Amino acid sequence: MIEIKVDEKGFYGNFGGAYIPEMLHPNIEELRLNYEAIIAEPDFQETFHSLLRDFVGRPTPLYLAERLSEKFGAKIYLKREDLCHTGAHKVNNTIGQIILAKKLGKKRIIAETGAGQHGVATATVCALMGMECTVYMGALDIERQRPNVERMKILGAKVVPATSGSKTLKDATNEAMRQWINNPVDTHYIIGSVVGPHPYPEMVARFQSVISAEIKAQLLEKEGRDYPDAVIACVGGGSNAAGAFYHYYNDPRVRLIAVEAAGLGISSGKSAATTALGTPGVLHGSKTLLMQTKDGQVVEPHSISAGLDYPGIGPVHAHLFESGRGEFIAVEDDDAMRAGIALSRTEGIIPAIETSHALHALSLMEYKPGDVLVINLSGRGDKDLDTYIKWGKY
Ligand SMILES: *Cc1c(COP(=O)(O)O)cnc(C)c1O
Repeated sequence: MIEIKVDEKGFYGNFGGAYIPEMLHPNIEELRLNYEAIIAEPDFQETFHSLLRDFVGRPTPLYLAERLSEKFGAKIYLKREDLCHTGAHKVNNTIGQIILAKKLGKKRIIAETGAGQHGVATATVCALMGMECTVYMGALDIERQRPNVERMKILGAKVVPATSGSKTLKDATNEAMRQWINNPVDTHYIIGSVVGPHPYPEMVARFQSVISAEIKAQLLEKEGRDYPDAVIACVGGGSNAAGAFYHYYNDPRVRLIAVEAAGLGISSGKSAATTALGTPGVLHGSKTLLMQTKDGQVVEPHSISAGLDYPGIGPVHAHLFESGRGEFIAVEDDDAMRAGIALSRTEGIIPAIETSHALHALSLMEYKPGDVLVINLSGRGDKDLDTYIKWGKY
């Protein structure tokens, strides 16, 4: 089996690296040269784990979903990231990066956000640590995601509209990059998924890997073995999946099932199924698979879930796909919505719509009766109530 591991230059197989403008080089180098040593320090580990415990509420439960298990004829566990403070896994990463930023002597945090979830997770840890926080957000997204914009403001963050291009995530990312180039000494840029130039993808995956570290310990206690037959997670950029897969990357007993958003259908022209439709290219500073036209223009993605509405995929997932180590499944909007309603009624848990994609994979994948399956329940559905209401079929 091929080994899943990042190399010195930030490559996973053919994907990764740091494709950045010259002016960003010093910032990225500072991070690359320091992050491993800093996160290995006992002091960092102590602060990180005590905040994960007392602020985020970790370890999150590994819950045996009995009625769901009965329905599918497998032993299905839900890793309850929905119970993290702020309602999803994203805060695991922002906690790690804010401690790192402090240790690097930074005074100011910038971030970009699409639907606002990563912006809220960043504003939360900035408030916690008393750091100045600026979040760049597409002007159109600010209109569409009012509650999260107000959450960020309540938490004390400044929300700055990106008014160029399509006024969405990609433009917010460009604006954040520009700001970082102009303020390299005092500013840290918190990226929210396993994307961006090296070392971000590996750094974010390591902060999120607490998920699979906990799964191992919890399964050992519940099942007498520390691995499941499969781990299933949805993939936008891929951070919750990378965290849930991390300690199983190189364990051939564990299938790694990554679930992408097929939107209105893979061949509908309105989809975010990157591995099905993507080709190699450079997006946000790393070489990866992305949805693009023949002449390299990024194709506007579509998914009913904001968190999966991204035209690329983290480089580690491009490698999991290309190497065959990961199994990729695409789930359409309507099927995901139905799976979300089904979980609500079977287990009393309203999931985030991103997570609902992973839930529908149970109906599409093959497994043996009695297999132990872990689904990473990446977030809760409170933020998606409007989408559930508009969809209406419940
Ligand atoms: C942001 C988000 C995702 C997608 O991001 P990844 O980096 O792929 O994990 C998935 N689920 C929820 C609940 C999210 O908020």
